[in-house]
Amino acid sequence: SDGVIIVGAGHAAGQAVASLRSEGYEGPVTVIGDEPYVPYQRPPLSKKFLAGEIDIDRVYFKPPDFYEKSNAEMVLGRKVVEIERPKKIVHLDDGSTRGYDKLILATGSRVRELNIPGFDLEGVFYLRTIEDVEAIQSKFNEGGKMVVVGGGYIGLEVAAVAAQRGIDVTVLEMAPRVLARVVDPILSKFYTKAHTEAGVKIETGVTVSGFEGSNGKIEKIDCGDGKTFDADFAIVGVGIIPNVELADEAGLKVENGIAVDELCRTEDPDIYAIGDCTNHPNPILGTRLRLESVHNALEQGKTAAASICGKEKPYAQVPWFWSDQYDLKLQIVGLSAGYDEVVVRGDPENERSFAVFYLKDGVMIASDAVNRAPEHMMSRRLIAAKAKIPAAKLADESINMKDMAE
Ligand code: FAD
Repeated sequence: SDGVIIVGAGHAAGQAVASLRSEGYEGPVTVIGDEPYVPYQRPPLSKKFLAGEIDIDRVYFKPPDFYEKSNAEMVLGRKVVEIERPKKIVHLDDGSTRGYDKLILATGSRVRELNIPGFDLEGVFYLRTIEDVEAIQSKFNEGGKMVVVGGGYIGLEVAAVAAQRGIDVTVLEMAPRVLARVVDPILSKFYTKAHTEAGVKIETGVTVSGFEGSNGKIEKIDCGDGKTFDADFAIVGVGIIPNVELADEAGLKVENGIAVDELCRTEDPDIYAIGDCTNHPNPILGTRLRLESVHNALEQGKTAAASICGKEKPYAQVPWFWSDQYDLKLQIVGLSAGYDEVVVRGDPENERSFAVFYLKDGVMIASDAVNRAPEHMMSRRLIAAKAKIPAAKLADESINMKDMAE
């Protein structure tokens, strides 16, 4: 048999290999990835790995020999350029083809690039891969002024690491506040203060319109209103684009991600999709979603592997995510969009540990917990249970979090 081919060698692919074997799949498993590495974790790229606190061995999802032990063939540094569904083969960029019984698309996402004047100047960086980190680290070693374009999680994490390395950091955010897309103003204010105290300058309401430089190298950043910022290098973190082209060209349904069901199946019974590249139903939230998170990549990897082994393990979980900046460990669970009430537990004005709960019609739909693991863990349960907990009770620190559900 041709076995299973997994396209992409990221987090989701690594989990799919592990789960195919643990679910009892005995046929050939082949992973084709265009990066030169076995699957690695991206979160450390803007955290401990960028800071130089851990080395590459701890960034890999599994030790490199795991794939040999799992009898999985790793074809690395090769891109799949076409899926020929009628023949059940994929074409690689070296002109070769490979047949599959089942295909898993784990193509992930890529950075959204700013297509503005000066975009190709030396010193303008994005952050998605190990090579990106290496390039940014060499700039850290030179020192100077760094400007971060985009005040989202990745931008703020890089700002924190750089500030701790003694770099002069400015963050430029188009919205009126950082993290505007994902959190309540209470959190934006808290993170702005934390960064300001660490020496990071945060400028909101500024739209970057171009990069300027000389001798092919960046020197400053232009903002629409004539405002400029000096920069020895810039890190752009303005979102990602799911890699759906392969699926799209093969005629599979794509709608803000490759459309799959709760078993990670596309409309082709032999093709599955997992991770950042998918748009999938979430039965708990009652909506379809595209998520950019490790938890999603892992859980869909497990589900697709089980599906291929004839077991139904529907993917039905409350989404969660984390962000580390300085000593602050933020854990986010649920999706806060549409909330009509916010409850604060703790004192974000004066402490580096608190939680914010988002309610809609009295039901908890999301929470952001800063250095508050118990609040995070309990929120996961309460959101899944669609629990109605009175706001005053949630805010009352004399009530232990684990007694909240009673
Ligand atoms: P990816 O990791 O994108 O892997 C897909 C792989 O497929 C890539 O290597 C890609 O090059 C390859 N590929 C694509 N097309 C082809 C093709 N045609 N042929 C061959 N190969 C192909 N998530 C969290 O939950 N918490 C965090 O704190 C967090 N921090 C992050 C920090 C950074 C800097 C970044 C970049 C991401 C972070 N994320 C975080 C998001 C998380 O890393 C992603 O959700 C996760 O990597 C998704 O895994 P994936 O396997 O679906 O996709």
